[in-house]
This record gives sequence, structure tokens and C-alpha cells, in this order.
Amino acid sequence: MYSSGECQHIWDRCLGLIKTRVPPQTYSTWFQPIRAISLNEKALFLQVPNKFFYDWLDSHYKETIHASLREVTGNGLTVQYTVLLNDQAEENETTPIPLSVPVLGKISPLEGARTGMLERGTRINEHYVFENFVEGAGNQFAKAASIAVANAPGKTSFNPLVIYGGTGLGKTHLLQAIGNHALLKGYARKIVYVSSDTFTLDFIAAIQKNKTTEFSRYYRSVDMLLLDDIQFFQNKEQTQEQFFHIFNNLYQHRRQIVLTTDRPPLELRGLQERLLSRFQSSLTVDIQPPDLETRIAILNQKAASEGLDVSYDVIEFIAQNVKKNIRELEGFLIRLLAYSSLMQVDIDINLARKALREMGGIEKKTKFSIEDIQKIVSTEYSINLDSLVGKSRTKEIAEARMIAMFLAREHTDLSLKTIGLYFGGRDHSTVVHACRSVEERVGKDERFANQIDIFKNKIQNII
Ligand code: ADP
Ligand code: MG
Repeated sequence: MYSSGECQHIWDRCLGLIKTRVPPQTYSTWFQPIRAISLNEKALFLQVPNKFFYDWLDSHYKETIHASLREVTGNGLTVQYTVLLNDQAEENETTPIPLSVPVLGKISPLEGARTGMLERGTRINEHYVFENFVEGAGNQFAKAASIAVANAPGKTSFNPLVIYGGTGLGKTHLLQAIGNHALLKGYARKIVYVSSDTFTLDFIAAIQKNKTTEFSRYYRSVDMLLLDDIQFFQNKEQTQEQFFHIFNNLYQHRRQIVLTTDRPPLELRGLQERLLSRFQSSLTVDIQPPDLETRIAILNQKAASEGLDVSYDVIEFIAQNVKKNIRELEGFLIRLLAYSSLMQVDIDINLARKALREMGGIEKKTKFSIEDIQKIVSTEYSINLDSLVGKSRTKEIAEARMIAMFLAREHTDLSLKTIGLYFGGRDHSTVVHACRSVEERVGKDERFANQIDIFKNKIQNII
């Protein structure tokens, strides 16, 4: 057996190597929380915050850790993991618990969980639970992290947990599932789910009624804050300020915060730097659009829960044609049900085809192309396309270019980087700058704002 000082020294040297080999966010999320417990001739014992953490390390960074240990010690030491019990985290005890012990169920339930619900804000919808959230490659990690957080609110290193993904991909579902789970199991009492625009409206009402202290006290008293769609905070300085203080207070008291956004935190424009940096130091998980198999599984599940008898070929036909998001998948199924009962025919592939044709809109939304946007803007400004994407800095062309970038950002799913590429290989920061400038001017200049609205209408009418 080595002394704890030697053990720490060896692990510190491993960390030094690992730090140079993984991205900073990975390092702070997955390596900093690890504690070196002990060392003997055969193994180094590391303690991790929870079972989920261990699974993730084991499947992703096992070799990274082994390699660093080999380099530091020059021999074939193995690594053994133990998981920290949740109530130990608070007491700061160090007795390791072997992994086979079911650690997550150990938190003592609080009495009367459901009566702890607060009056304010939007209520949690009991329909959204983990059990009916179909898992696929695109959402697996987000779901696993959500479950970990729901099982040990404020006690994992995932605080805040930020879930991001396009619209209709299940962010709200997961967020509410976390709340439902924690509430049901008694892991948290006061759980507030609120969308960011409701939060903003509430805050404005509080200002008007001179009740901002009450507003802030209310949010500071919760065990778990589930805040949906934080992109709505963009450019709302006062609300952000208020939220920042609430956030810090909850964080310091180890209350769980979970946030969702429709874009990566880095791309949240109009958010104060200090808020952004808070989000960046957290765990961010994304949800990607579902693949075909997942879409089929979701449709099967929805059909079953609605009591619909839909054959497999119809399910597959829908899954193949409705790709963009899950809300549309569901919408299509409901529409099919309406058709079938109105026309008194069975749901079969012909009906599905007819519904798809008549609905039309499903695939259309995806058809906004950046080329269309460029064409509209250049026609309106009477400049040619080459100038729009070219180097000219004349006032008019530069303005048209800025607007086109802004519209591309708003109306396509393309990343900042890709948009930059479409504009003569410009850097993504140029696109960010263009979007910011347009937003600022829209706020100040009514004529300009109207002009932007006209463009938006034109784009909507392309299809
Ligand atoms: P978002 O908040 O990302 O816009 P929602 O959470 O509102 O999306 O999801 C849209 C709809 O799709 C909801 O009815 C939700 O229950 C359903 N949904 C999303 N993801 C899944 C999934 N993986 N399994 C089952 N249903 C899902
Ligand atoms: Mg949502």
C-alpha cells in the first residue's frame, strides 16, 4: 500500500497528461470530478460521482486513463472504480462503495413530495415520463444524463444540465420527465418547470407590481428548476440579470438546474457573457433528429398508446416520409386518425399517401434553401448574386449581405460555419456579427424592421 500523498501525486500526473489529450470541456466534465482514493501494487482506486458517470467513463475514456497511468508508472497497474454514495457527497465521506451496490436508490425520499408543488409557473405534465421516451442513437446520451440528474438532483456533476436540440425533438419531454421522476421518487420536493418566456412575463409583471423581491425569493426556494427554451432570454437584459442571481443562488445551494435550448449554448446570441460562461462550464447534451428505426419505434408506441390499429407498412411509410421531427410524426398520425374517422375508411397505405399529399406541408418546411434566401435578397436590392457573396464593402451590398446572413440563420438549420461558407467562405464570427447588427437595428429602426418583415414574408411564400 502506498500513502495517500503518493496516490494523489500519481493521479495528478495522469491528469496532467489527460488534460493535454482531451478537449477542455471533456476534461472538466469527466475528469475533474474523479477522486483518487488509494493505490496498491496492483491497482489505482478512483472514485466517481455515480454509476452513470462510471458507465460513460468506461465506454469512452477507459483507454485514455489506462494509457496515462502506464506512462506515469511504467507498469501495468489496473484501475478500479468506486462510486460515491449520494448522501456521502454532502457529508464528504470517503468510504468507497463497490460498483455492484445499487447507489442511486439510496437517497432518502422526502415526505409529501407532491404537496410540495408550487403555485407559480407552468405545471409539470404527468404524461411526459422516461418510460414513454423512446431511445435512439440521437437522444441516448441526453436521456441517460437526464435520468442521472433525476435520480440525484444537485448531487451529480451535471449542474446545470443543458439539453439542446432542434424543435420537436423531445427537449420538453425530457425536461418534464426529470421533474416527474424526481417528484415521484421523492428526490426533490419543490420542482418548478417554466418556459423562459413565462419566466420573462412573470418577471415583468413582478416589476409592474413592485414584487421583484418576492419573485426572486420564490425561485430561490425551489429544489429543482427546469427552465425550457432559454433562447427566449436573448436580448432580455433585465430578465437575464435576474436569472443570473437566481441561478447562482440555486447553484451554490446545490439545487438542480436543467435548461433547454434550441441551439448550442455557444450560439445563443444576445446572452450576457457571464451567463454563457456558466452554461459552458456545465454538461451540455444534444438531441439529434431520430433515425428511421427510432421513428418507427416512436410511431409504434404512439399508435399503441392512442389505441390505433396501424399496420407495419403504414408505420414505415410515415417514418420514411416524415423525417424532421417527432412532433410532426405525431401530428401526422393524429391527422390520419381524423381522416380515417371522417371518411370512415381504415388506415391503410393509400390513406396515408393521400394524407401526406394533402398535408403537403411536412416536407415543405425543410425546403428553405440558403440559395433561395440569397436570391430574394439580391433581387430586392438589385444586386447580383456574385456581389452578395463577394468582397465588396459598399454600404448597400454590405447591408444586403448582412440581412441575407441573418435570414439564413433564422430560416435554415445550417450552422454558422456553413452559412459563412455560402457567403464566400467567411468566418462564422462574421455571421454572428451580421446577425447581431441586424437584431440591434431592428430594435431601433422601424423602417428597417419592416423591411426585414417583408423579406421574411417572401421567404415564407417560396413554398
Ligand atoms: P421540443 O421541446 O424539443 O420542441 P417536445 O419535447 O415538445 O420537443 O417533443 C415533441 C413531441 O414529440 C412530444 O409530444 C413528445 O412527447 C414527443 N417525443 C419527442 N421525443 C420523443 C421520444 N424519443 N419518444 C417518444 N416521444 C417523443
Ligand atoms: Mg419544447
